[in-house]
Amino acid sequence: MRVLIVALAVCLLAGCGAQQRSADTSTASAPPAASAPASPAGGAGTQAVAASAPKMIEALTNQKQVFECPKCGMDYDAAGTCSMDGAELVAMRVDYTCPMDHQPVAQAGHCPRCAMNARVEKTALAANATPGKP
Ligand SMILES: [Zn+2]
Ligand SMILES: [Zn+2]
Repeated sequence: MRVLIVALAVCLLAGCGAQQRSADTSTASAPPAASAPASPAGGAGTQAVAASAPKMIEALTNQKQVFECPKCGMDYDAAGTCSMDGAELVAMRVDYTCPMDHQPVAQAGHCPRCAMNARVEKTALAANATPGKP
């Protein structure tokens, strides 16, 4: 019995340290599933989640970079894992362009030059991506 407890403790201290941002281990009082239904309703972070956990983005406004879940497609504001399915988030560059003239627009919503809504395009960032590239 004691061996099992020691193994768990070692795992918590060392091996599983990287997992603690998911807050699954620290929120012992509430099951992890409880955070899933509340997230779309709250959104603003009224819930007691760990500060380091990536926050879900419900609608893109002027974000230049988001982190997208490859499984469910949700966008997050920081790197980490998806709170819904635990998948590793992928960095995506976000571009806003006018569908009429294909020129960049500062943010989502309608274009300052015409009545069209800016198109949101996401591009997966490679690990060696150069940030300055247009
Ligand atoms: Zn997901
Ligand atoms: Zn336009």
